Amino acid sequence: MMALDESWYSEIHGKDGSAFSFKIKEKLHEEQTEYQQIAIYQTETFGRLMVIDDCVMLTDRDNFLYHEMMSHPALFTHADPKRVVIIGGGDCGTMKEVLKHPGVEEAWQVEIDQRVTDLSEEYFPELCSANKDPRAHFYFGDGIAWMADQGEAAFDLIIVDSTDPVGPAAGLFTQAFFANCLKALKTGGIMVQQSESPIYHSDLIAGMHRDMKAAGFADTKTLDFPQPVYPSGWWSATMAAKGRDLNNFRETDIANKPFETLYYNLECHHKSLALPEFMKKALAK
Ligand code: SAM
Repeated sequence: MMALDESWYSEIHGKDGSAFSFKIKEKLHEEQTEYQQIAIYQTETFGRLMVIDDCVMLTDRDNFLYHEMMSHPALFTHADPKRVVIIGGGDCGTMKEVLKHPGVEEAWQVEIDQRVTDLSEEYFPELCSANKDPRAHFYFGDGIAWMADQGEAAFDLIIVDSTDPVGPAAGLFTQAFFANCLKALKTGGIMVQQSESPIYHSDLIAGMHRDMKAAGFADTKTLDFPQPVYPSGWWSATMAAKGRDLNNFRETDIANKPFETLYYNLECHHKSLALPEFMKKALAK
């Protein structure tokens, strides 16, 4: 058995008895902010890597999978999304994808920790390339409190691009937060939230469906996608719709989308909605 020396960074998934390791060239930055510990590394094969509280957030090499799948399926499921809010998402990769949609008139990023965005502008400029778009707005504060303060029917789409459901993000995975999202959405509106690994966290995903329905959402659906650097290499996002179902999406618009993606397309959208047997069982419980 080969042991890894200190030139490797490992995210250890203690409860699941697994780990993912990167060969590191150098540590570029480390700081403890008011909210969390942020570290940035230059890796040998994944470009730059951002870690928050010992959890991998993103790498240059594979972040397109997550950012495209957190945004485009929900944007193309909505009939005509104009006002969008991203809760979390401090690296700005989701904002960049949202603003590729010409119909979006206004997008807000509500991130608790301004240092995540400042460091992303410095170390991940590619992800921040749309930050100067006049439609982009930034608010730094707690997304849970911010959502509670929103008026009724203010948004078409809410994207919750958060850290894992611990620390400042724990309250984003609750029925009370979902109820505030429901209130802030227009009828026909959609929320989509990162929902961890299908294989490691199917109970959490099932709980999100229950809590979203209990909050008053009319329909919920989970989509999945590969994410090599997250625990298990397989990730998910869960959508919830206000006053409509999630059975249809704008297939012709996807086929003719006026922008480039690296992963997302019509076939991948369909594929992402195919639920494996164990997930059907978990959601039926
Ligand atoms: N997709 C990534 C993952 O799962 O590893 C998350 C990327 S993004 C950097 C997550 C962001 O959520 C972090 O910058 C964190 O500060 C932010 N966040 C966590 N809790 C939050 C809250 N209550 N309100 C707003 N932002 C929050």
